[in-house]
Amino acid sequence: MLFRVFDQGELPILFSALTARHEVIGPVEAGVDRHGKPFYAFEPATDFRALRLAYTTTKLPAKRYFLPCREDLATFRTSGSDWSKTVEYNVDRPRVFFGLHACDINALNKLDKVLTGGDYPMPWYAAKRRNMFIVGVDCEPQPSCFCRSMGADTALSGFDLFLTGIGDRYFAEILSNNAYNLLRGIRAVEPGEEEHVLYRRAVAEKTRKYTARVDTTDLTKILDMEFESPVWKSWGEKCLSCGSCAAVCPTCYCYGVEETVDIDLSVARKTKTLYSCNLVDFAQVAGGHNFRPESHSRLKYRYYHKHRGFVEAYEESLCTGCGRCGETCLAGINVPDVIASVRGEGGA
Ligand code: SF4
Ligand code: SF4
Repeated sequence: MLFRVFDQGELPILFSALTARHEVIGPVEAGVDRHGKPFYAFEPATDFRALRLAYTTTKLPAKRYFLPCREDLATFRTSGSDWSKTVEYNVDRPRVFFGLHACDINALNKLDKVLTGGDYPMPWYAAKRRNMFIVGVDCEPQPSCFCRSMGADTALSGFDLFLTGIGDRYFAEILSNNAYNLLRGIRAVEPGEEEHVLYRRAVAEKTRKYTARVDTTDLTKILDMEFESPVWKSWGEKCLSCGSCAAVCPTCYCYGVEETVDIDLSVARKTKTLYSCNLVDFAQVAGGHNFRPESHSRLKYRYYHKHRGFVEAYEESLCTGCGRCGETCLAGINVPDVIASVRGEGGA
């Protein structure tokens, strides 16, 4: 990894160089919540002044740009006795993500393991992922953030450039040739010992600000032991089975595929739609049998997939600790409380 330091005033130049040739997605203010606080969304941005790089966690992750909620995978057309199939990867140009936090970069790294590195890679995701340039920015931990507990508070891979504020300058981590060449367009210098100290101080200051945490010690074993724990029923009684937690989660990727045919039989489509394991019919199969008819079994499944099964398969959790699910859940269900209750350290 290479490092550079540059004045924060240089960043708009870097942004302009990217917007001149690419679509740039970044955090912008999307509205004000009921407490009068601004909330943020990842949207296309052409004006640097619209970006809010000191944003708190966005309500929705950036996944709609590489794992859209609904996406046509293939289209079939008939013409007389002939027919043809078109597969669209739905990529029209490279995309720049300007200002992703470390947890959201780590979410992409986790998705990569399943969607590009598994036994059944998903070409629609891989095509979009290959065409990304990512500029990460450091963040201010929010009360709901427990990314440090999940090892997702810093990113070691999965970005091109990562920026940490050190006073009125940025400390830049460079991971790609493109990022290196981009920085040649601004006044950036190699950091010295003084900047190393400032960087370490910025990281230590951030670390002190975490208030939420999850104890992951021996968690897979504890989940195995507590599979029949009554706490799952208690949480299940609260759960509304609305699926919002999966919709806002940067690492939830479960989906269903449906095929539809136009009424005149001329066109048919195969369409992927993201789904949630908390929805009532998630485990319903042909014939109508539902393997998880109760809300507590579905809620439990979601936790076992993220904190048990994925750890077994990939030696890491499928949760980044971004806190979005807990912030969104109308029933007040959140990862730190659920895991603490399973460990016997809190009530459901
Ligand atoms: S845990 Fe919360 S957000 Fe998720 S399905 Fe249940 S009620 Fe909805
Ligand atoms: S499970 Fe919740 S805290 Fe974990 S990555 Fe998903 S939304 Fe974030």
